[in-house]
Amino acid sequence: MTSSPSRRAILRGKVNARPHPRPIGALAPMAFEDACSQCGDCARACPEEIILRDAEGFPVLDARTGACTFCGACTEACETGALIAGQPFPWRAAAEPNCLSLKGVQCRACEDQCDASAIRFRLMPGGSAQPLFDDAACTGCGACVAPCPAGAIALHPFNPTEPAQC
Ligand code: SF4
Ligand code: SF4
Ligand code: SF4
Repeated sequence: MTSSPSRRAILRGKVNARPHPRPIGALAPMAFEDACSQCGDCARACPEEIILRDAEGFPVLDARTGACTFCGACTEACETGALIAGQPFPWRAAAEPNCLSLKGVQCRACEDQCDASAIRFRLMPGGSAQPLFDDAACTGCGACVAPCPAGAIALHPFNPTEPAQC
C-alpha cells in the first residue's frame, strides 16, 4: 500500500509519553504487542488521521489531533489479529487541574463538543464551575480533548471497579 505525503508524516509522527489508547479493537496490552507488526495499515485506514505511533512504534490514538468516530476502519484493516472487532474500549476523558473552569475562568468548550452529554458542570463556592465527566456515558471518543483551550483534557485508562474521576 502506498502512502500520501501527509500520511507518511503522520506515520513518522511520534506522540509524547502520556498513555494513549490503542486503536479500537486492540487486544490486551501484552497480546497486542505480540501480535502487532507495526505495519501502519490501521493508521492509513483511519479517515480521521488520528492514529500515530508511540515511542516504540506501535499505533496509538492521539485525541489531540481529532476524535474517533468508532467507524471500525482501523480494526478492519488489521490483518495480524492485533485489532479485532468486539473488544472493549476502556478509555474515558477527564480534566486535569489546569482546566480553566477550575481556575474560575468561564469556559464550557468541552461540554459543547460532547454528543454523549457526558460532561456537566457543578458550581463551586466562589463562582467557579467544576466539569464532571460521567464515565458511564463517556465513549472515549476524544472529541472534547482538542477543543480545550488549556489542553487540560486527556483520555485515561478506565477501570469500572475504581472510583470515578472528574
Ligand atoms: S475507529 Fe475509525 S475513526 Fe476511530 S481510529 Fe479507527 S479508523 Fe480512525
Ligand atoms: S494494522 Fe494491526 S498490525 Fe498493523 S500497525 Fe495496526 S494494529 Fe499493528
Ligand atoms: S471523550 Fe467523547 S464522550 Fe467522553 S466526555 Fe469527551 S466528547 Fe464526551
